[in-house]
Amino acid sequence: MSKAGGTELGTRSLVWFRTDLRTHDHAALAHACAAQRERGVTPGGVVGLFVLSPGEWRAHDWACVKVEFVLRTLRELSAALAKLNIPLLIRSAKGPGDVPAVVAKAAREVGAARVDFNREYEVNERRRDEAVTRELEKLGVRVFAWHDQCVLEPGCVRTGAGGPFTVFTPFRRAWLRVSAERGGVKDLGTPEVQKKIDLAPDEVPGRVPGFGSDIAPERWPAGESEALRRLRVFVAERGRAYKDRRDFPAVDGTSTLSPYLAIGAVSPRVCVRAAAEANAGALDGGSAGLAGWITELVWREFYIHVVDAFPRVCMHRAFKPAAERVAWRTDEAQLLAWQEGRTGFPIVDAAMRQLRALGWMHNRLRMISAMFLTKDLLIDWRLGERFFMQNLVDGFLPSNNGGWQWSASTGTDAQPYFRIFNPFSQSERFDPDGSFIRAWVPELRGVRGAAVHQPYDPKKGLAPLERAKLEYPPPIVDHSKARERVLKAFKIAAGIAEGAEAAGGEAQDSDED
Ligand code: FAD
Repeated sequence: MSKAGGTELGTRSLVWFRTDLRTHDHAALAHACAAQRERGVTPGGVVGLFVLSPGEWRAHDWACVKVEFVLRTLRELSAALAKLNIPLLIRSAKGPGDVPAVVAKAAREVGAARVDFNREYEVNERRRDEAVTRELEKLGVRVFAWHDQCVLEPGCVRTGAGGPFTVFTPFRRAWLRVSAERGGVKDLGTPEVQKKIDLAPDEVPGRVPGFGSDIAPERWPAGESEALRRLRVFVAERGRAYKDRRDFPAVDGTSTLSPYLAIGAVSPRVCVRAAAEANAGALDGGSAGLAGWITELVWREFYIHVVDAFPRVCMHRAFKPAAERVAWRTDEAQLLAWQEGRTGFPIVDAAMRQLRALGWMHNRLRMISAMFLTKDLLIDWRLGERFFMQNLVDGFLPSNNGGWQWSASTGTDAQPYFRIFNPFSQSERFDPDGSFIRAWVPELRGVRGAAVHQPYDPKKGLAPLERAKLEYPPPIVDHSKARERVLKAFKIAAGIAEGAEAAGGEAQDSDED
């Protein structure tokens, strides 16, 4: 036997951290530590590993703000693991294809008998993990892949016919039933302090070349402790009012936990349990706010299950085959205007500017701006999906893809294509006093009253003289005409004759969601 860090090889557990950067309620970490305890291996010990993989991040459009957030979270994780006597090793992979060799090398170096990691369900991640598993097994290292990203693992929530759900509401009902059958949502706790080993943790780099972010780190304080603090404060102070406040972007009504959930700084089980505990133990019913918040976490689960069951959604394919035939337009100038928040639709522009400034956008605005790009501009949802991913601190493929395909009416549970948000009435409804618009679009700060929602409208907008003084662009598209255009494009794609209505409703603006 060879030696590493003064101990004999082949007895340690290596935990490979990826998008699960925490110590509490972490399946792979909990099982790796339990295995050490149960087997009483000598000399043993648990070691953590994180692989810096800029090639993968670039290929998957990780935003700079997200990478920077990950690095800061890793520093906190390393310190938390050190308190448990678990050194965190940091290794680098040059390209996505190098990851298996890098993990295998680390396993050899530390003398791992086993490697534990939590599963990721996207296509490339699965392929990577299969390759890593093969490489490790060649070395005689045992591999344990745990379900951890969801409360209920993909595959266990099934329709009566045994298939995956493609519609949210019945998925949610079944999710509640399976959770109840399993006796509620479990928490694996934090592992106990491990046997001390003489292996020092590696330093976490302050930055990774090519991923510098302009967004101040204070905007998103990193780490598990911050995630748990946010959760506590949200549940105690805003959870009950969530249903009434969650749709208003000017109001601090949501948890802003998405960046932490996306990189696993907090587990979904801990979130669901915290809300349920505050709701007298109930996952459904009771406080509409707390139960409504749990429902949003179930949306997250739904989209992860969809990715697992329908891998095509990870490969730039529409969930609905007919939607592949929609003739999206190419319009670089309008795409750029959308990206830069210069469309002349104040609520859309405010949303896009919030995204660029914070790396985050309120959910209502994600729906409005995604529907604007796909329905008003008839630009391919994949371009919007990519742009969001490249800018979001919480970029998470299942939710981002799910949200985009929902908005574009190409996805599971899609809105019928003839239901199209009217950006102006969405604005009046969800930013009634215009305060969100004024906060993010300084050109409109001086516009008083309801004119802020559509300053160029001859009836509702500013007087012609005031309009002429505005340094804000007029709308780049006429919403009514754009609506007719997108309806036609979807009807052609679906093979529906001109003038005929699709089953289920009339063409109309819809603000009901
Ligand atoms: P809260 O309202 O406090 O909700 C709690 C948690 O539930 C969120 O943190 C999130 O993990 C989950 N959640 C809430 N709404 C949804 C939803 N509609 N779908 C799936 N999960 C949800 N969410 C991401 O985490 N990453 C993304 O990349 C992402 N892209 C999106 C793109 C579009 C076009 C749309 C319409 C939605 C997207 N969402 C995404 C979902 C949602 O907008 C965000 O999760 C939410 O705005 C995050 O804010 P919060 O943490 O305050 O949410």
